[in-house]
Amino acid sequence: MIIILNPEIGDKSPEYQQILDFLSNRPNVTTRVHQEIGALQTVTEIYLIGDTASLDQAEIESLAGVDRVVRVSEEYRILGRHRDDHRPTGFEYNGVTFDQDGLNVFAGLCAVDTPEHVEKMMQTLRDNNQVCTRMGAYKPRTNPYAFQGHGKNCLPWVFELAGKYGIKVIAMEITHDSHLDEIREALEKTGKPTGVMLQIGTRNTQNFELLKIVGRQRELPVLLKRGFGITLEESLNAAEYLASEGNHHIVFGLRGMKTNMGDPHRNFVDFAHVPVIKRLTRMPVCIDPSHSVGSRDRAPDGMLDVQHVTAQGVIAGANMVLVDFHPAPSKALVDGPQALHVDELPYFLEDIAIAREAYEKLRALTQRFLNR
Ligand code: PEP
Ligand code: MN
Repeated sequence: MIIILNPEIGDKSPEYQQILDFLSNRPNVTTRVHQEIGALQTVTEIYLIGDTASLDQAEIESLAGVDRVVRVSEEYRILGRHRDDHRPTGFEYNGVTFDQDGLNVFAGLCAVDTPEHVEKMMQTLRDNNQVCTRMGAYKPRTNPYAFQGHGKNCLPWVFELAGKYGIKVIAMEITHDSHLDEIREALEKTGKPTGVMLQIGTRNTQNFELLKIVGRQRELPVLLKRGFGITLEESLNAAEYLASEGNHHIVFGLRGMKTNMGDPHRNFVDFAHVPVIKRLTRMPVCIDPSHSVGSRDRAPDGMLDVQHVTAQGVIAGANMVLVDFHPAPSKALVDGPQALHVDELPYFLEDIAIAREAYEKLRALTQRFLNR
C-alpha cells in the first residue's frame, strides 16, 4: 500500500506525524518514506510493507494530509502500475524529461576512444539539435584481452566536451561501484558541465549488490538494460531493486535476447515488449537497436536492419533510443561493425520522426475508437 500525501505536507508538518502515529499502532506493518523533489512541488509517499491487507483504505484516506491511497499488487511495488494508480510516469533530469509519453534519442559512441572522435560526435549532435548521447568509458568485454575502455581517465575531457556542445545527459555504463564514485568525482571536479545517466548493462542486470549501491544514490538516473538470458519478470524485479533502495528515476532498456533463434541478428529483437513494460510499470522504455541487430546489414528495400528495428520500436511507443554512431566506424575500438556513421545522423533522426508521427496518429485513432 502506498499513501500519497498532499504536496504541501512535508515531513515536518503535524499531519505527517499524526499519520505515522496512526500507522505505528498497526501490527506487522513497517513504513518507508520516499520524497520526490520536483521543480514545483515535493511529493511525499509512505510505502507500507507487511500485513497491509487488514488496513482500511478509506480510513487512511480520511486522515488529514492524505491525498490518496494506492493498493499495490504484489509485483513491482514501487515501479508497477497498480489499480487506480495515477502517479506520474518518469522524471526530469538536468532539464530533460523522461516519461512514458516522450521520446529522447541517445546517439553516440559505444566506447570513448580519441578526443577527436568524441568531439566530432558531440559537434554533430549539437548541429542536429541533440542534447543527449551515449559514451562508454567502462566496457564489459567478452574477451579479457579486448579493449576495456579508458575508464576514469577520459571522464574529465569527455564531460568538458559535452558541456562545450550543449549535451545535457550522457548514458554511461558502469560495471562496479567504484565507477559511480569516479563519475561523481569527475562531474564535481569539472563543475558539472553535463549530466550522466548511469547504465547497467545486460551482463549486470542481476548484479544485486551493484543495483543496491546505484539505487541508494538519487543524484543520477539509471538506465537498466534487460538481462539477455532471463525472463522479463526477473529484469523488471532488478529495476525494482533500484527503486526499493530509493532511486525511482529509472529507464528500462530493451536490447534483444541472446538466442540462436535471433540469428542472423546479434540478439533476438524484443521491441514488441515496449507496450508490455509500459502496461506493467511506470518506467519509460528505451530500445537499443545497435546491440539488438549488431550489424550494418541492409535489406533489399535499401534500409539498414538497424533502421528497420528502430522504426519498429518507436512505432511501438518507445521513449528512448540508444544507438551506436561513430565518425570512423572502421577505427572504433568497440562495436564498429554496427555503428552508424555521423553523416547518417540527420537521416536517422528523420526516420525516427516519421515512425514517431505514425505512432502518434495510431494512438489518436485508437483513442477516437475507444471514445466512440
Ligand atoms: C552497451 O550499451 O554498450 C552495451 C554493452 O550494452 P548491453 O549491456 O546491452 O550489451
Ligand atoms: Mn557496444
